[in-house]
Amino acid sequence: MKHGLIIFCFIVTMPLLLAACAAADKHFWELPDENLSYIALIRTAPRSGTVVVYNPKLCQAVGEACGFFRSHAFAHLMLNHQILSPASYTQSHEDAADCYAARNAPVAEVRAAVDFLADEDREPQVRLTGDPAERAKNIRTCAEAADNWETGR
Ligand SMILES: [Zn+2]
Repeated sequence: MKHGLIIFCFIVTMPLLLAACAAADKHFWELPDENLSYIALIRTAPRSGTVVVYNPKLCQAVGEACGFFRSHAFAHLMLNHQILSPASYTQSHEDAADCYAARNAPVAEVRAAVDFLADEDREPQVRLTGDPAERAKNIRTCAEAADNWETGR
């Protein structure tokens, strides 16, 4: 039943997805994978090309921050980084992807990601790359510089 609903939703949202992809500079897809240990990553799939794979369960657990991590994964493509597993990126590529997402993701998602990374009691099952506190600082700095940060906070 649950799967039927997911397939139904997929069919219904498909034309919208296709339209969104056609509008994007670079063609890409997002695919859910409940077994992913990360919130999201970018991967080259044999038939679909480059895709952002995300874990819908972890997304539910972390809320709006999920959108930021999907943007981070997509940023690796937009910044012409090699497509690697999350832990294989250099610190400078990770910082650049965080900064790209900080500039381009919706303000609420950026703020949710910073709060999530800065929270030492965050969801323990979520696998992260790098030092979370450092990432939170870098993301906020980039968002503020791009005027993509809520003022008065
Ligand atoms: Zn990354």
